[in-house]
Amino acid sequence: AQVFNFSSGPAMLPADVLQLAQQELCDWQGLGTSVMEISHRGKEFIQVAETAEKDFRDLLNIPSNYKVLFCHGGGRGQFAGVPLNLLGDKTTADYVDAGYWAESAVKEAVKYCSPNVIDAKTIVDGKRAVKPMRDWQLSDNAAYLHYCPNETIDGIAINEMPNFGKDVVVAADFSSSILSSPIDISRFGVIYAGAQKNIGPAGLTLVIVREDLLGKAHKMCPSILDYTVLNDNDSMFNTPPTFAWYLSGLVFKWLKEQGGVAAMDRINQQKAELLYGTIDNSDFYRNDVATANRSRMNVPFQLADSALDKLFLEESFAAGLHALKGHRVVGGMRASIYNAMPLAGVQALTDFMKEFERRHG
Ligand code: PLP
Repeated sequence: AQVFNFSSGPAMLPADVLQLAQQELCDWQGLGTSVMEISHRGKEFIQVAETAEKDFRDLLNIPSNYKVLFCHGGGRGQFAGVPLNLLGDKTTADYVDAGYWAESAVKEAVKYCSPNVIDAKTIVDGKRAVKPMRDWQLSDNAAYLHYCPNETIDGIAINEMPNFGKDVVVAADFSSSILSSPIDISRFGVIYAGAQKNIGPAGLTLVIVREDLLGKAHKMCPSILDYTVLNDNDSMFNTPPTFAWYLSGLVFKWLKEQGGVAAMDRINQQKAELLYGTIDNSDFYRNDVATANRSRMNVPFQLADSALDKLFLEESFAAGLHALKGHRVVGGMRASIYNAMPLAGVQALTDFMKEFERRHG
């Protein structure tokens, strides 16, 4: 049977992209070597890098006053990168806490400032939810506001677009939702995302930064996290993760062929409706996130009888449905259904879930 990988990351890549990468692996563009063996400063790789950036810009409609940086260090690297680049002479920043990763960003930020933590967690109709943005109490002296629009572990999404006025610099961790739906980039100062979820290969981190925010890095900021240094060096201050950059470029081309982010948005909606619908239509499965805050990318769910968890995981794996085990801090199951997961994968999962319920319910 075909394998569908529901891992939260590193995650599934489009099959077409993997096949192309495989064809090109040992002999890229007739050079007789792989793309990961050539100099990042040579004209061949520069072409790969520039094309990837252009396609990424096209996909997200990134305005020209924003720089795109291709970095190392992952989401956690940016938990440090954001304060080190944006604090300037301020000593505090607003951090909205709606889940595990937002909280992890706070733990890193305390090394550099005294964050004002805004607890946005709430309960709506007995289910986990996030307070609306209008109820977020911002402080007067914050250098920026940080939040995470998609909590990969909690399965919680904040779908509102920030609208706090031009004086509030918004920094957002889009690690698990970048390119899954359109974003109005102009609402943000900084957007960052590790590539290993909704794009593909681990090792690459994308940062989108408004250009007027450059030049403010703390003097202790490591150069490889300094947006200005990275920008001045076209993201090649140190050797970039060339293979991940190349592979991400192939994913961007694939996304364009699929119809871009608008098409992904539609398919992601269908996938999410199918999976949440299956959960909601049964007493055997449950998801405890309020409808308005349900993530379309990461869907945690529980079996009413947790004694069946082990069997569910064994049988689903045997059916080609991999990596459905929930995160260790949440338990139960989690299906991550990023862009590369086709509707057919979610169909196979929901068919399996119904069949499992029929046999064990
Ligand atoms: N932010 C979010 C939303 C994540 O899901 C993750 C990883 O799962 C991270 C940050 C941490 O990313 P990394 O492992 O690239 O440091």
